[in-house]
Amino acid sequence: MHELSIAQSLLDIVVEEAIRHGVSKVRRVGVRVGAFTNVVPDSLSFCFDLIKEGTVAEGAELKLTPVPLAGLCQDCGAELDMSEAVFSCPQCQSANVKVTQGQELLIDYIETDEG
Ligand SMILES: [Zn+2]
Repeated sequence: MHELSIAQSLLDIVVEEAIRHGVSKVRRVGVRVGAFTNVVPDSLSFCFDLIKEGTVAEGAELKLTPVPLAGLCQDCGAELDMSEAVFSCPQCQSANVKVTQGQELLIDYIETDEG
């Protein structure tokens, strides 16, 4: 399952960071989830809740922030809303378009009891 392996790697990072900073309890984990990652937020939260038991993140809430797909035309520099899956520039018709956001899946912040 896609979401389970992602939840596991997120948890690994959270636990690693908590240990490094001497944190005993994690309260909240903010994660940016790009639209292009095909991750189902509910499913990711569910998986995280399953595997967090017995770790420093046991009481942690996963806070997911969706990141819409956006791009940049490499030819005219136009910023593109790529939510419609338009992979050519509406201004200059160039297909030389680069996805600039929406592919990420990263931890934004980790909130702990220590503040
Ligand atoms: Zn363009």
